Amino acid sequence: MRAFPCNQCGQCCRNVHLAEQTRFLDRGDGVCRHFSEDSKHCTIYVDRPDICRVDRQYRMHYAERYAWDEFVELNLQVCQVLAFQS
Ligand code: SF4
Repeated sequence: MRAFPCNQCGQCCRNVHLAEQTRFLDRGDGVCRHFSEDSKHCTIYVDRPDICRVDRQYRMHYAERYAWDEFVELNLQVCQVLAFQS
């Protein structure tokens, strides 16, 4: 299984208000409370929640419906939508 090709743009971490599953991370303006504006990285990366782990989400919920490469492509489409919005 190839690694998810995250380019660390941070758009998913800046838009946690858009998905019910990530809304609990919202610091009040749509940005995750664990996102560092200075470093542009997750400050709890090693201990980040399951919902932030693409590979774990795949194994837990989507492996029976999609091949890994399909799942990666679907997620990359969301990345593109978020990048387009910013
Ligand atoms: S916990 Fe970390 S990886 Fe998850 S949305 Fe927040 S900053 Fe991003």
